[in-house]
Amino acid sequence: MEKRPFVTLEKLKEITAQYPTPFHLYDEKGIRENAKALSEAFAWNKGFKEFYAVKAAPNPYLVNILKELGCGCDCSSMTELMLAHAIGCGEGDIMFSSNDTPLDEFRYAYEIGGIINLDDFTHIEALEKSIGKIPKTICCRYNPGGVFKISNDIMDNPGDSKYGMTTEQIFEAFRVLKEKGAEEFGIHAFLASNTVTNEYYPLLAGVLFELAVKLQKETGAHIKFINLSGGIGIPYRPDQEPNDIKVIGEGVRKVYEEILVPAGMGDVALYTELGRFMTGPYGCLVTTAIHEKHIHKEYIGVDACAVNLMRPAMYGAYHHITVMGKEDQPCDHMYDVTGSLCENNDKFAIDRMLPRVDMGDLLVIHDTGAHGFAMGYNYNGKLKSAEILLHEDGSFDLIRRAETPKDYFATFDGLDIYEKLIQK
Ligand SMILES: *Cc1c(COP(=O)(O)O)cnc(C)c1O
Repeated sequence: MEKRPFVTLEKLKEITAQYPTPFHLYDEKGIRENAKALSEAFAWNKGFKEFYAVKAAPNPYLVNILKELGCGCDCSSMTELMLAHAIGCGEGDIMFSSNDTPLDEFRYAYEIGGIINLDDFTHIEALEKSIGKIPKTICCRYNPGGVFKISNDIMDNPGDSKYGMTTEQIFEAFRVLKEKGAEEFGIHAFLASNTVTNEYYPLLAGVLFELAVKLQKETGAHIKFINLSGGIGIPYRPDQEPNDIKVIGEGVRKVYEEILVPAGMGDVALYTELGRFMTGPYGCLVTTAIHEKHIHKEYIGVDACAVNLMRPAMYGAYHHITVMGKEDQPCDHMYDVTGSLCENNDKFAIDRMLPRVDMGDLLVIHDTGAHGFAMGYNYNGKLKSAEILLHEDGSFDLIRRAETPKDYFATFDGLDIYEKLIQK
């Protein structure tokens, strides 16, 4: 499928007249429509709720859009919990799916009404130590080990992953938790990431539903919800077929009716913790071509770098690039599109066929709305960019300003070098 930006060149010119590149731009309309499609796809399940994985785009303005549509927050750290609390998430609106968890985070998550999802058996004792009891509602994360396959394709390798409890452990955990006073249980698993197939969720659901039936039977625990977590992917590449959330919802319904309903568990609520699927396609990184270099290869240097979007450097991930205003020109030039870090992996694209790029051209790097800005860092003393929200009516707002050198040096505040560092 052809990938077109959600923004026009004309609108970008308007935005860049006010805010310099680089910045991440988000499409409120796309976020809303997609979130509605998700709720509709799972409307058949009475207790359905999406807990947006805050780590994917930890901006309170973005998370709040999803909150308005009924989503909660999936958090895994103190600051993510603080963000969820600040936008008004209360009792039952926060899923705390952490791992390697410090005790004070359990405490804070519990205080603000979060549901605690235990990653490990030893966390039962840790949780008791930190809050003095076991909460009435509790969730356990499951790791079946082995490899996770769809037909003959290996999707991921749970046996190598650090998350969750083994089958034996989760049965024992349910028994112990019940003895200590837990009344409502949840099960959670995240077995494959960025799946671009409608089969992942139904397959995962099958594994968890069967486990749920056994757990309820053998431990007597009342299972209130099953959390299918994240993992529904997006088509980063133009040749990928996007997931169809309606088909996914129906696929899960079929398994629910085959496994849970006959076991008398037709009241189990389904939860999701999607990140990438909720915001990924509805964000892009807008950057300007500032340098061209002709050596052994052809390079286009832009004013963004891996600090603004780490996925290509970190995973070799593909992000589609549109040269704005040249959408219909032939892609007859081969470029490496680079940032300015002193790291040769700071390339947004390698050997990419694009229309001829002229200095000053605006480039849109697609699908940065999840795990984009969020993975930013400050290597080479580079500063993080602004984030801008494009509303449905074409107006736009700065929802995070760009960092300044003062932000970069802020942690020297109070030391004698600070005043010198921030004078320029
Ligand atoms: C990262 C993460 C998610 C979201 O994953 P996506 O691939 O962005 O959907 C959900 N749950 C947990 C526990 C995670 O760590």
